[in-house]
Amino acid sequence: MTLRHVVIIGSGPAGYTAAIYLSRAGLRPVMVTGALTPGGQLVNTTEVENYPGFPDGILGPDLMDAMKAQAEKFGTEFIPSDVESVVELPSTSDLDTDLDTDADGTSHGKPTFRLTLDTGEELDARAVIVATGSTYRKLGVPGEEKYSGHGVSYCATCDGFFFRNKPIVVVGGGDSAFEEALYLTRFGSSVTLIHRRGEFRASAIMVERARANEKLTLLADTVVTAIHGGVPAATPSASDASTVSAPAPGGLKLNLGGPAGGLSLGDGNAIGGGLSLPLAVPTAGEVTGIDIRNTVTGETGTLTTSAVFVAIGHTPATGFLGGLVDKDGDGYVLVDGAGTCTSHPGVFAAGDCVDRVYRQAISAAGMGCRAALDAQAYLA
Ligand SMILES: Cc1cc2nc3c(=O)[nH]c(=O)nc-3n(C[C@H](O)[C@H](O)[C@H](O)COP(=O)(O)OP(=O)(O)OC[C@H]3O[C@@H](n4cnc5c(N)ncnc54)[C@H](O)[C@@H]3O)c2cc1C
Repeated sequence: MTLRHVVIIGSGPAGYTAAIYLSRAGLRPVMVTGALTPGGQLVNTTEVENYPGFPDGILGPDLMDAMKAQAEKFGTEFIPSDVESVVELPSTSDLDTDLDTDADGTSHGKPTFRLTLDTGEELDARAVIVATGSTYRKLGVPGEEKYSGHGVSYCATCDGFFFRNKPIVVVGGGDSAFEEALYLTRFGSSVTLIHRRGEFRASAIMVERARANEKLTLLADTVVTAIHGGVPAATPSASDASTVSAPAPGGLKLNLGGPAGGLSLGDGNAIGGGLSLPLAVPTAGEVTGIDIRNTVTGETGTLTTSAVFVAIGHTPATGFLGGLVDKDGDGYVLVDGAGTCTSHPGVFAAGDCVDRVYRQAISAAGMGCRAALDAQAYLA
């Protein structure tokens, strides 16, 4: 079996950037792209407006195609599979050892990693870059898949801008959900944070900030049971959109199934039941509202909104690594400070599978660059 210098696992912005650097450096990287979603998370989105170099924005799939073309141009080899396991081999004696020794026969003494793919194929490499990203946890309610990218979002930084002056719902009760909700108050006419429990997991300071924000309403003990969209029977015109029958906090239309105010609104900014407020003008196939249920009383209701931001956590795609490298309790790969070295020499990690904070295409790409340079230094 041929021993490769380096195999990159994952074909998002982190993986492609690492591939561009390594192939330009002459290291002939092999990229295992992922069987189902080559190109990573951005192939599932439409407009990307915050990736530098594209003043008019670029479609996510087009951006990823361009990254792939750039990596291919310099000699990256692609394998459209999933990696199922990575192990360090005890010795390299059965390998083609052209990478093991210098011309004078000096051994590098570096370990060799064997990657097993879902096809059964095996790859051996001197270094491995893990760039497998993470997946957003989903609500699993009707309408979520259908309106994903059309009002249902998992990234406030990415999509908040598209919902200026429209009512927004955020689902979640941790710090991330509160951060996203507070951030979204810059854009939305109102933001309602919905949490299934009575207590929030977020830090006290975040909850205080949220309570102090007039645009933000906390709705505790409540779950979203369905997401609706499309063009309602009587679509209001743009001028109708400003019609307000009863101005109230939140800019929402909240129709409660039971007595007005029967739903628990948490101990944040209270809103009354039976309010009638401006409807955002929906476009075809976009979110118009949600169904909700009180987890304590069982009461049901509906809430008019143009966007549902789901902030209930992420799952890094790192299970296949087993115990090869150290991870935190949620499965994020641990790296040394600003670098990309994992606890296992020769294994590097970059992008959303490491980063629980920034989770952006550009930050993943930047880390992919660092992983390539770290791997290069390791192999030198
Ligand atoms: C709907 C949506 C819209 C977004 N919009 C923006 C935006 O506008 N701007 C922005 O900056 N960011 C945006 N983001 C976030 C951005 O997409 C991510 O931060 C970025 O893609 C992370 O890059 P990555 O390379 O770390 O991983 P990913 O893009 O997640 O790529 C990981 C890759 O690894 C592969 N993989 C996983 N497991 C394996 C395995 N076992 N074997 C082989 N391959 C594997 C996957 O198939 C995938 O190709 C958005 C995200 C979503 C979901």
